Amino acid sequence: MRPQDDETCLPIPDQADALASGESSPDEAMMRRALELARAAKDLGEVPVGALVVRAGQIIAQAHNLRETLRDPTAHAERLALTWAGRALGTWRLDDCVLYVTLEPCAMCAGAIVLSRIRRLVYGATDPKAGACRSLYRLVSDPRLNHRVEVTAGVLAGECGEILTEFFQERRPFRKLGVSRKAQPSTDKLDAPSPS
Ligand SMILES: [Zn+2]
Repeated sequence: MRPQDDETCLPIPDQADALASGESSPDEAMMRRALELARAAKDLGEVPVGALVVRAGQIIAQAHNLRETLRDPTAHAERLALTWAGRALGTWRLDDCVLYVTLEPCAMCAGAIVLSRIRRLVYGATDPKAGACRSLYRLVSDPRLNHRVEVTAGVLAGECGEILTEFFQERRPFRKLGVSRKAQPSTDKLDAPSPS
């Protein structure tokens, strides 16, 4: 099945558009595209994280967070992008591919990245609460595992983090309203979704 045939899978953009954006580096151009996907997630009320799988400069698969839409706790942007890249290429082994994601992957996604044999990971914002590539754990570069991933962190980190900050700031008044109506103590910590 081609990823375009899957109703939850996003269509692949015009490759020339993705690359001809005048960025100073190919990594920034791809991260710019991942940011567009994050914005699309935000419009759906999803935590704004976007991801791309690229091979030889061509986008193979792209995804954004769909946890609310699919009611699936594992529907993180990069996990979906890996799945759809495998379908597009007809193999689970993505060892000549690069994964771009706007936020440092969590433990689940870092595990999926190792399993996919992705050659290189490029991410934007750091996730000090759940990041498993540099922040809490270094799963993708752990020498005890049978695959290690080259990591480039911090590409367009400011913009990648800003969209998340805006998203949670916009949601906060609604959450506080709900809490005060029930006259309960603040449950912000319990309610706050993981950013990825
Ligand atoms: Zn994740």
